[in-house]
Amino acid sequence: MTEYRKMDCDLLVIGAGMAGMVAAARAASLGIRTILAGNSGSLIFVSGMMDYLGVYPMEARKSVADPALGLAGLRAAEPDHPYGSVDHEQILQGFDFVKKVLGKAGLAYHLSGGRNLSVLTAMGTLKPSFMVPKTMEKGTRLFGETAEKKSLLVIDIKGLQGFSARQVAAGMEHRLARVIPVTVEIPGISQTIPPIVLAQLFEDPKVQEAFVRQVLAFSDKVDIAGMPAVCGVHNSLGIQQRLENLTGLPLFEIPGLPPSVPGLRLKNAFETSLAASGVTFLSNVTIKDPVFNGKKFTLTGSTDNRELSISAGGVVLATGRFPGNGLHARRERIVETIFHLNVHQPVTRSLWHGTDFLTRQGHLVNRAGIETDKDFRPLNKRGAPVFDHLYAVGSILAHNDWIRLKSGAGVCLVSACAAVDRFHKRRSKAGP
Ligand SMILES: Cc1cc2nc3c(=O)[nH]c(=O)nc-3n(C[C@H](O)[C@H](O)[C@H](O)COP(=O)(O)OP(=O)(O)OC[C@H]3O[C@@H](n4cnc5c(N)ncnc54)[C@H](O)[C@@H]3O)c2cc1C
Repeated sequence: MTEYRKMDCDLLVIGAGMAGMVAAARAASLGIRTILAGNSGSLIFVSGMMDYLGVYPMEARKSVADPALGLAGLRAAEPDHPYGSVDHEQILQGFDFVKKVLGKAGLAYHLSGGRNLSVLTAMGTLKPSFMVPKTMEKGTRLFGETAEKKSLLVIDIKGLQGFSARQVAAGMEHRLARVIPVTVEIPGISQTIPPIVLAQLFEDPKVQEAFVRQVLAFSDKVDIAGMPAVCGVHNSLGIQQRLENLTGLPLFEIPGLPPSVPGLRLKNAFETSLAASGVTFLSNVTIKDPVFNGKKFTLTGSTDNRELSISAGGVVLATGRFPGNGLHARRERIVETIFHLNVHQPVTRSLWHGTDFLTRQGHLVNRAGIETDKDFRPLNKRGAPVFDHLYAVGSILAHNDWIRLKSGAGVCLVSACAAVDRFHKRRSKAGP
């Protein structure tokens, strides 16, 4: 039997991925009565690294050492990019806000002092990022502009899917003094094991000790060790420090393929933060059928056995792109799925993708999305905000090929913070 309920809030955030979580946390920090609706499962797929701007110009595939300089170029050449509505200081404040939210929830992050960090990945490549889990920080020190060449032990674990110490070592041999790949065996693992299951096993001190016994044989041969990101789902930093103490080696985690343990830790930390901040989280509720009565929005939230009527003074749309279902590709047009907003896109489907899959320019479909004003309010075809209090944030925004620019989390978090701040300001001005 379907249960019906009415709910009321000042701000409804739709979508519980990176952008929605940050929007809800920001709203709670400003004392806004907030409901967040959606499925936080998409966070399990993120790498845990948070990029500001790692590559610019995109066509040159040029890694950016100083994202503030890259930002200046991007804003001048592409003023419609979401970063065109914010400045460097606001982006830094956005990162700092998220670092504090996660820190309070028990998940420590390391924020760059200004330059992009170089993160060693499971592919054996270096990736520019701006904020990384604290458990990855020591690895980034190996590759700074002034870093000395060190000896690295790369550890993989027998049976672990998607991680090869040999592959990582092959990619790093020319950059470091010496790289030794080694495979460690954990008793009881005879089959292939997914990273999240292995991380759960690593919470057992006996598993940690078995790992340490095998690594100890190398501790006088190298300066530092890297291992896959499996130092537990909970208390990852504590487990990493215990492994360091027992091996006598500085140690860092190497991010791997999705679904990822750092992504699961992020999901857990955001959920902990929501619970402590008084946000009402409607987990797995799908929002549809928006109606605006001139003052407030009313939307329907549904699950298999529940229908909710949610009334809200403002709405933040953080529903993502095609995988999140914020955008949907019909045969000829890309549509926005809840408000049927205008979607910036190529005029015909034949232009969505270029003929060269690896084209340096990227594919136009990856720049499709919602265009907004400087306050992140979606625009209609005449270029005016559709509603005073409807905002769009995160990867649904147009003009941001985040995979190529390496700007994923940065755009999510700064657009979420800015949109909520501007909603709060506008509402405070208007009075109750
Ligand atoms: C594999 C992978 C690796 C990544 N690596 C990096 C990285 O290294 N660095 C980096 O900075 N970023 C990375 N990112 C993430 C990047 O930050 C993305 O920009 C981010 O995942 C997009 O977040 P989002 O919140 O905009 O959308 P999503 O994560 O897609 O979230 C949208 C949410 O909205 C929900 N939703 C949609 N429609 C409705 C509805 N009608 N009602 C309720 N809910 C709805 C969806 O269920 C979903 O949960 C990675 C992402 C992925 C997938």
